[in-house]
Amino acid sequence: MSSMQKMILSTILITILFIGCGKNQPMQKSNKINSVVTLITYKDFVESIGGAEVVVTSLIPPGANPHAFEPVPDHIKQMSDADVYFKVGGNFHFEEELMSGVSVSREKLTIIDCSTGIKIINNNPHVWLGPDQVKIILKNIYSALVRFKPDKEEYFNTNLERFLTKLDSLETQFKNKFNAADRKTFVVYHEAWGYYANHFNLVELAVEKEGKEPNVYHMKNIVEEAKKNKIKVIFSEPQTNRQSALAVAHEIGANIDFINPHPAKYLNNFIEVSNKLLESFK
Ligand SMILES: [Zn+2]
Repeated sequence: MSSMQKMILSTILITILFIGCGKNQPMQKSNKINSVVTLITYKDFVESIGGAEVVVTSLIPPGANPHAFEPVPDHIKQMSDADVYFKVGGNFHFEEELMSGVSVSREKLTIIDCSTGIKIINNNPHVWLGPDQVKIILKNIYSALVRFKPDKEEYFNTNLERFLTKLDSLETQFKNKFNAADRKTFVVYHEAWGYYANHFNLVELAVEKEGKEPNVYHMKNIVEEAKKNKIKVIFSEPQTNRQSALAVAHEIGANIDFINPHPAKYLNNFIEVSNKLLESFK
């Protein structure tokens, strides 16, 4: 056997070994861009632009609370297998912990900071809920995908434009409705809707205080504000403890409803949340 033949054979063997070891990996190496995200909403973003050219894994399961998220070795493994990691960026802190493990196991993972170009306001990490911020995120994802597959630029661009057009039309539609609404203040348990509220000139009041259960003083304030603004609904979220939200609702005779800050489908959720808020302003 020539040394070239030996080299080819050993490459084949190594490849087989790797394929054999992967527990839940696809059996043959696809030419799709293997992408990892932390939040489920970014899976929607990357899939919406990447379409048939991407495979996306989101590390935090739907329904889990990202603020309480702890990376486990399996996450590091999934990231090590990926081509690209689309990070939320900004001040979404737990991602840095993830990365400290990944740098050891793989140096070649491309990291795209989706928050590039977004101005973080009041340390608020929830950029994926603001329409203007989402547009920047989508464009960052688009540019990264084009770098991976320049020949698919047109395809990615069509997908990007489709998403942006839908979002634009929803924005206009709801902007008009919010402008015409009698009231603009809503109460949430978890302070996730700052970018969204700013966009539509709404006021978000949070039961939670800086990510923690409220103290007695803050609870009293919220109850007063909620009464003053004739709040009829307290919006909690599926992912978090809502005892204090229930307490406020009880105190002012309001209902509890849910709005999801971690939607699997951004646009559908945008419509649902906007309609619920509008309904509560009536
Ligand atoms: Zn949050």
